[in-house]
Amino acid sequence: MTTLLVSQRNFESHVTPTGHPERPDRLRAVDEALSREGFAELKRKDAPYGDLNLASLVHHPDYLEALRQVRPAEGLGRIDEDTFISSGSLDAASTALGAALLALDAVAMGEADNAFCAIGPPGHHAEAERPMGFCLINTVAIAAREAQRKYGAERVAIVDFDVHHGNGTQDIFQADPTVFYASSHQMPLFPGTGAPSETGVGNIVNAALSAHTGKDLMREAYEGRILPELEAFAPDFLFISAGFDADHRDPLAQLDWVPDDFSWLTGKLMDIANRRCGGRIVSLLEGGYDRQGLADGASAHVRRLMGR
Ligand SMILES: [Zn+2]
Repeated sequence: MTTLLVSQRNFESHVTPTGHPERPDRLRAVDEALSREGFAELKRKDAPYGDLNLASLVHHPDYLEALRQVRPAEGLGRIDEDTFISSGSLDAASTALGAALLALDAVAMGEADNAFCAIGPPGHHAEAERPMGFCLINTVAIAAREAQRKYGAERVAIVDFDVHHGNGTQDIFQADPTVFYASSHQMPLFPGTGAPSETGVGNIVNAALSAHTGKDLMREAYEGRILPELEAFAPDFLFISAGFDADHRDPLAQLDWVPDDFSWLTGKLMDIANRRCGGRIVSLLEGGYDRQGLADGASAHVRRLMGR
C-alpha cells in the first residue's frame, strides 16, 4: 500500500485575523502529527503551484478576477463576516489546488494507491458564484472535474465528512448526474443547507446529525444511506472532503466523534473504493479547528489510508 502525502509549504501566505479559527497553526499541527514515527512509510511530496484558471471548470468565468479585485496589496480584505483574503491568499489557494492535482495525477497513474493533501484554505463552502465560510475556491470540485477531463472518469464521487455541510460542492454539482456528493454534517449549524430532502438529480445524499450524537448515529447514517448509495453509484474515482471538526474537542461544532470514528469511516470508504475503483482515493483536508483534535483525526485517517 502506497499512500502519498502532499504538503503545502506556503500555507502561511493565507493570513486571517488574530483569533480566527482558520489559522496557519492548523497545518503546522497536521504536519507535526504526520512527521511522527508511524508515518515513515508515507511517500511525501511538496505541493506545486496549480493553475488557478482551472477555477472556471466549476466557478463563474468572472470568479477568479473578482477574487483578485478584493485581494488587498497588504493587510486583510473581507469577503464576508468570517471569510478573509490577504495578499498571499491566492498563492496559498494555488498550491492547495496544486496539491490536489498532483495527488490526482499520482493516484490516476498508479504511482500511489491513495493520497492525502494537507492543505488550506479549505474549499467546500465555495459555491459556483460565491466564496464563503473561510473558503476561496472549491478545490475538491476542481479536482473532481479534472479527474473527468484529464483521466476520462465517467463517474466521480465526493464524500464530505467535515462537520459542516459542503454547500459549495453541492451547489456546483447538484444538476450533474456524473458527480455524486454525499455529506454528513451537524444540523442546525453553519451554513444551514444540507437537509436530507436536498437530493439534486438523485446524485446528492445529505445525512444531517444533531449535536451530541456520537458514533452510533454517525455509523447508522453511513451504513444506512451514504455507503449503499455510494456503492450503487459505482464511482471511477473517490474524493474525500476530510474535515476533522466533528471531533469532540472542536470549538465550532458538537458532534462528539473520536479519532477511531474517522478511522472506521475511512476504512468503509476504502472498502467501496477497492470494490469499485481500484482503491483510487484522493482526500483533501477541509476543516478541523481544535489543534489536537485535528492532529489526532488526521493521523487516524491517514493511518487507515496506509492500510493500518
Ligand atoms: Zn467544517
